[in-house]
Amino acid sequence: MRFSGLAIRTGVPLPPASGPTRVAMMYQGGVMALRESARLYGQCYRSISLTWGVPVARIPSWTSTTEEIYRRGLWTTSAQRDFLVRVWTRARRQLRRSVAAFILPPPWSIGPPTSDQWGHRQYLAMASSLRGPRSMPQFSNTWHELERVARASLDRAVDAYNFLEDSELSELAHQHAHHVAALVGGLFGCNIEYSDDAYWEVCRLTLMHNRWGMSAGFTATCTCSLCGQDIDSCPHLLDTRYEITVRHDTDGTCNVCGLLSCLHVDGEAESTFPRLLKSQLQLHEVSLVARPRDPLARFTRVEFSQEALQHGLGEDPEGREICCYRCLHPCSGFNQLPNRD
Ligand SMILES: [Zn+2]
Ligand SMILES: [Zn+2]
Ligand SMILES: [Zn+2]
Ligand SMILES: [Zn+2]
Repeated sequence: MRFSGLAIRTGVPLPPASGPTRVAMMYQGGVMALRESARLYGQCYRSISLTWGVPVARIPSWTSTTEEIYRRGLWTTSAQRDFLVRVWTRARRQLRRSVAAFILPPPWSIGPPTSDQWGHRQYLAMASSLRGPRSMPQFSNTWHELERVARASLDRAVDAYNFLEDSELSELAHQHAHHVAALVGGLFGCNIEYSDDAYWEVCRLTLMHNRWGMSAGFTATCTCSLCGQDIDSCPHLLDTRYEITVRHDTDGTCNVCGLLSCLHVDGEAESTFPRLLKSQLQLHEVSLVARPRDPLARFTRVEFSQEALQHGLGEDPEGREICCYRCLHPCSGFNQLPNRD
């Protein structure tokens, strides 16, 4: 089985392996991610209901579809999938129609044609030329922007769960991730990736339900951008601003922002946070663990076994596109790291 993932993040302070500081940092990181995800999720709903006028009740929620599945007694995966595809397709079509109506005003909105048949045809031709080539990209821009916000919300929702899994907010973060994943999968789709002659699991929600990640054995030297000393022993704190004088070094790198071309002027005073410099990370080994030191060090894609896929689909998909509907379904629980002792 092949997989790719993140072994460790660099340039951010990592929580220690254990102890109260770890608990506090995990909580802080989780609440920040949850808040950001909720803000983006709310932004999607605001656009849907206030901008495009689709009542929120018309958009299925993960809770409502899950309740409906149990109420109707849909116990097989295929019965659940048929139901979910039906309700989400209906919602997606209505939303796309509303977005299109908002962006592409119908010809009669400019005023009904008053003249004869000939004038009417001319008017229609004029109206379609007005809204044709310019408005279609506008529609797809608007749609893609909504999709981008929704997917960003899902990314942060998964981060939040990874931070909060051992806290009392874990169930809240878990449910929130299901809600966002259903909105993303239902409106914009979630696909099983095909590349390098193989199918890959990339569904954020499904990967989140595999409770293991990577723990990296590493050594790193990080220096402070303000004083050049080891960041762990110098007096500067990463979350504190300091007043410094702007200076560009011999190769033109700015001491405030670290960029080669910026708007900072040499000699002027700027208030800035210290940055981590020359993060020389030496990775020694990576192991699979239930609680990775870096809570976000997780798999981003995992190869599907050919047999399991064929068994699930009843045929060889031969490279064609496969949709993932699992993010719409009721939760089927978490997978824990098998005990390998
Ligand atoms: Zn999915
Ligand atoms: Zn320093
Ligand atoms: Zn600069
Ligand atoms: Zn779940």
